[in-house]
Amino acid sequence: MPDLVAEEQQMVDLVAKFVDNEVRPVASELEHADTYPEALIEAMKAMGVFGLVIPRPYGDVAVSTPCFARIAMELSRGWMSLAGAMGTHSVVSQLLVLFGTAEQKERWLPRLATGAIRAAMALTEPGGGSDLQALRTVARRDGDSYVLRGNKTWITNAQRAGLIAVLCKTDPDARPAHRGISLLLCEKGPGFTVSRSLPKLGYKGVESCELAFDDCRVPVGNLLGGVEGQGFAQMMKGLELGRIQVASRAVGVATAAFADAFRYAQQREAFGQPIWQHESVGNYLADMATKISAARLLTLDAAVRLDRGERCDLEAGMAKLFASEACMDVTLKAIRIHGGNGYSTEFDVERYFRDAPLMIVGEGTNEIQHNVIVGQLIRRGGLDW
Ligand SMILES: Cc1cc2nc3c(=O)[nH]c(=O)nc-3n(C[C@H](O)[C@H](O)[C@H](O)COP(=O)(O)OP(=O)(O)OC[C@H]3O[C@@H](n4cnc5c(N)ncnc54)[C@H](O)[C@@H]3O)c2cc1C
Repeated sequence: MPDLVAEEQQMVDLVAKFVDNEVRPVASELEHADTYPEALIEAMKAMGVFGLVIPRPYGDVAVSTPCFARIAMELSRGWMSLAGAMGTHSVVSQLLVLFGTAEQKERWLPRLATGAIRAAMALTEPGGGSDLQALRTVARRDGDSYVLRGNKTWITNAQRAGLIAVLCKTDPDARPAHRGISLLLCEKGPGFTVSRSLPKLGYKGVESCELAFDDCRVPVGNLLGGVEGQGFAQMMKGLELGRIQVASRAVGVATAAFADAFRYAQQREAFGQPIWQHESVGNYLADMATKISAARLLTLDAAVRLDRGERCDLEAGMAKLFASEACMDVTLKAIRIHGGNGYSTEFDVERYFRDAPLMIVGEGTNEIQHNVIVGQLIRRGGLDW
């Protein structure tokens, strides 16, 4: 793994310090109260966290994808919801960088870079999120506007987002269906309603909502890239970064769970010795550390590949699959090591355990990652190291 350049390492260190000093002391209380972390988000804005993928002249702090991943890991080590708040925002920002027209970049990127406006992405619908080509939200062209009609669900950051990238059909009859799919950049206005925050097992504090588009008029100039039928391919590219980000979140949560369990196993005694000296507990710790290290390497490898401009859906899919399953396993083992205290809401390990399943489901379920990985393996003729 290449080292980060000095400025990037400083940025990671700055975020790590923020996490230790400002996030970890308050995360449990905010999480249990399901409170939006206003002050922490403001601090993240000040550090430039919302502009990490936005280069000059639109932003000031663009970093490499390995650095971006390391920052997402650090935030999640404190509280996964904070990394969630910058996750889909970064994917939409990157979509604009890669595919936006000059006018679209000028209009949104400078404000996205500072966090003055935040972005969300709306793919999933009540009828399903895995089979995106079957989506039902339709944008019908009418003069200088599209008239958008349909429903989305589970859209994170939707209440506070100033810009929402909506995956929709501009040609519902197109075959194959992906040729009729486009991304519309929507701002709040008449015909666009955002519901309450949906109740969740974990990932609290940040909102995930239902959206309703009821003949909502969106200017034609808000079609990402200005050409219809490109949205599916654009989104698949964006999801490479999204899956690296979700893998990073899993590594961060697992790292926090390991750290707590590692400390506890040295302090807690049973049968006259620290519990880590009991072989079962020692084995847990060894397995946890091994899995986290492997997940971290897979994630950073995918990040390096993305920066080389290579297709990396295989690598991002492997990272997301492995890291999220590792996170689930590690957080459960952290609970086991804490014994009865692991089941207490006064210890952080129960939060890590509730946050872990999101990384299995979000940004394409792990069942879908298997499909992506095997499809790419066949196309590439196996592993192409
Ligand atoms: C807290 C939270 C936040 C979210 N944030 C966002 C967001 O910001 N934006 C957004 O667009 N979405 C978001 N989602 C939605 C998420 O991306 C979807 O839940 C996910 O993609 C799965 O879609 P689904 O829930 O409709 O499940 P379904 O697609 O109905 O799948 C149900 C089950 O069937 C399996 N399955 C389906 N098809 C296949 C197949 N071909 N092969 C094997 N197994 C299959 C799935 O893996 C899953 O196990 C969020 C979800 C949650 C819980």
